[in-house]
Amino acid sequence: MNQDWESLATGVYRCRLQFLDVTVGLVLGDDGALLIDSGTTFEEARSIEADVRRFDQRGVRHLVLTHDHFDHILGSAVFAEAAVHAMPAVAETMLHRTDYLRSHALEYGAAEADIDAVIAAVRIPEHLCAQASIELGDRTVEVEHPGIGHTDHDLVVRVPPLHATDPTVLFCGDLVEESGDPSVTSGSDVTQWALTLDRVLEIGGPGAVYVPGHGAVVDAEFVRRQQQWLRAR
Ligand SMILES: [Zn+2]
Repeated sequence: MNQDWESLATGVYRCRLQFLDVTVGLVLGDDGALLIDSGTTFEEARSIEADVRRFDQRGVRHLVLTHDHFDHILGSAVFAEAAVHAMPAVAETMLHRTDYLRSHALEYGAAEADIDAVIAAVRIPEHLCAQASIELGDRTVEVEHPGIGHTDHDLVVRVPPLHATDPTVLFCGDLVEESGDPSVTSGSDVTQWALTLDRVLEIGGPGAVYVPGHGAVVDAEFVRRQQQWLRAR
């Protein structure tokens, strides 16, 4: 394997990319694999793609992009055959705001040539909605926009347990961060974000594994502490 895939529940994995410690999630089902976020560069995304084919030779069937920040979406260029799900804002950014993606990526230290190559091939999502159920055969994964927060269009992905001993896994995108404080940008709304985390906790439930966009997996208690941090700002 190119990446170190951490097992979170039966058929549910995540890896932490070296660049910016970005989470990429993977859910395996009878009917195919679902990937959550795609990394930044061709190199990163191709290494993920090759790993997914070792889990399931059919490769990535569905890709969910949690929000329009470069480190979560630009690698989508590699997943040409996947159905890509995102909020409309992600498609808007890819279509009309590539200058923003480019400058944001360079600001964070990405190589200019890598970013230009991947932006030229970027994969525009075609399944645009705030809520979706994605059928993977033996399991159904729920995608939801829980409210405004890190951006105005964050998606979370709820993976129900396959077996009684498995936890629910909730991929939170950057609505939850562990490796640093929550990333508050010009597109963030801190007041709404704290409220949105109530919905995130409702979707996951008290016993879920919460997977942040950056950093180690956390529990509901950690998410509540992050909510307090946001309220204090
Ligand atoms: Zn972000």
